[in-house]
Amino acid sequence: MIPGRAVIIGSGLSGLTAGVLLAEHGWRVTILEAHAIPGGLMQRFRRGPYWFDTGFHFITGSDPDGLFRRIAKRLGILDAMTFLPLDEDAQYRIHIPGEADFDFPVGLDASRRALGRRWPAQAAGIDRFFAELMGQMAATQWLDILVPAGTPGPTCDPHQSVSEILARCDVQGRAQEVIGCLASILAMRPERCSLDLYAGFAGTALAGSWRAEGGGEAMIKPLVARFAALGGRLALKRPAARIRWEDRLVTAVEDATGEIHPCDLAISTCHPAETLALTGVDGFRPSLAERIQATPDSDSAVLVYAALSRPPLGLGRRHHFARLSTAAFPEGDLYYLAPSNFHESAEDQARHPYLEAMLWVPCAAVADWSASAAGKRPAAYDAWKQERSREILDAVTALHPEIAGTITRTWASTPLSVRHFTRSRNGAAMGLSHDIGWLGSEPIPRRNRLKNLCFAGQSIGHPGVVGTMIGAFILVENIVERDLRAEVMGGGKVLGSGF
Ligand SMILES: Cc1cc2nc3c(=O)[nH]c(=O)nc-3n(C[C@H](O)[C@H](O)[C@H](O)COP(=O)(O)OP(=O)(O)OC[C@H]3O[C@@H](n4cnc5c(N)ncnc54)[C@H](O)[C@@H]3O)c2cc1C
Repeated sequence: MIPGRAVIIGSGLSGLTAGVLLAEHGWRVTILEAHAIPGGLMQRFRRGPYWFDTGFHFITGSDPDGLFRRIAKRLGILDAMTFLPLDEDAQYRIHIPGEADFDFPVGLDASRRALGRRWPAQAAGIDRFFAELMGQMAATQWLDILVPAGTPGPTCDPHQSVSEILARCDVQGRAQEVIGCLASILAMRPERCSLDLYAGFAGTALAGSWRAEGGGEAMIKPLVARFAALGGRLALKRPAARIRWEDRLVTAVEDATGEIHPCDLAISTCHPAETLALTGVDGFRPSLAERIQATPDSDSAVLVYAALSRPPLGLGRRHHFARLSTAAFPEGDLYYLAPSNFHESAEDQARHPYLEAMLWVPCAAVADWSASAAGKRPAAYDAWKQERSREILDAVTALHPEIAGTITRTWASTPLSVRHFTRSRNGAAMGLSHDIGWLGSEPIPRRNRLKNLCFAGQSIGHPGVVGTMIGAFILVENIVERDLRAEVMGGGKVLGSGF
């Protein structure tokens, strides 16, 4: 496409990545952001001396020279980021009831070997599963860089669930549970998560999941700076209110203040149901409009932030997964970490020690209060939140008794907080459900009825930091007709016109 004026709706990772890439290629880009702070789910918030993250814990595929760092380098933000030390022998600790914990080290092959050592009778089956997983990564552009060149493709149907493929490989019992539980990284269950999606986030997670100083803002701040340096306009507190179009072409986006932003190209990164509302139903082919309306939302989360009187050093520099079984959530997936432990020095670790813990919950868990406004929620909602916080912190304390008595203050967020800050329908953590049977392996197309309206963001391709950024690259490379993936990997050539 010939560069002109572009309007991007949403300043999350996908919107900012697309904005930088388009601005680099001569487009005059305006990003409209509904909220007062850019970053979407990468926003942080402050309580006293503590900075907490909302939708960020770790960056998958961020091993040195790995996929994420190459993407960040290509975007010109790598030098502004500081990666924090990680326990490379135990980046993920899985707590197994009644048994010793299992530690996933950094690296796909190292993880495969560690699993085989723990369950030697199933080592051959674990090898078969990893051959399928790494084969799927080899067969997927962008992920192929994370596995050795020449890795053969999968022999199974990658649209099948992780549970089915594990069973077919003869991986059973605890070994199956431990491998499957990585599906919860992005609010999924192994029986509902296809191998191709699992390869995108669990495969990249095993390759290495570093944190960066500054949490989600570690990426957002330099992306915003780079976007501004390229002449882009980031308009905060400017929710898009309407996408104007005629003859199947978008002509402008109108924001809620009434300002009209004429454009030759519009990219929407918000929840597809919101994009549908912005164009009106005629802006989509009926089949896609129906699909968006019929697809349920992904789960969301209750997050608890706890200030501590001393560093929880027993949690180490690693990510923890455990099962939380309560009356409200009998099979809850719990994730927690102590971000303060990741500081380099003991002095910094002890300055403001805290932990973050979260439980994936259906958005419907807070449906009773969905009509209430932020800041004016009823007492019953606060009581529900406090009860969930207590259950979550009790579970963490049961696994780490040294934390007992050190919690000085807590804060919590729920799906309603996610909805308030990102406008994701019902507060969905990952937008539309990526479960098999819903989006599964059949993502929503990047364009539909309106020729110059494109879609990006976590509902469209893969969710997660790396998934949404890659999604933005894939979209923009079709617009600017350059092989941006080759530029990320080293090299780069001009593509034929695909747009
Ligand atoms: C609790 C939680 C933990 C997570 N942890 C991790 C993790 O550790 N690692 C990882 O890789 N991923 C993680 N994720 C997933 C990751 O955060 C998301 O997949 C990713 O940030 C989504 O980016 P996005 O740009 O698609 O969407 P968003 O970040 O939601 O951005 C969309 C933006 O659009 C704006 N917007 C919406 N409607 C409008 C409108 N009408 N006009 C203007 N602006 C609008 C919103 O305000 C928002 O800023 C987590 C998610 C959650 C919820």
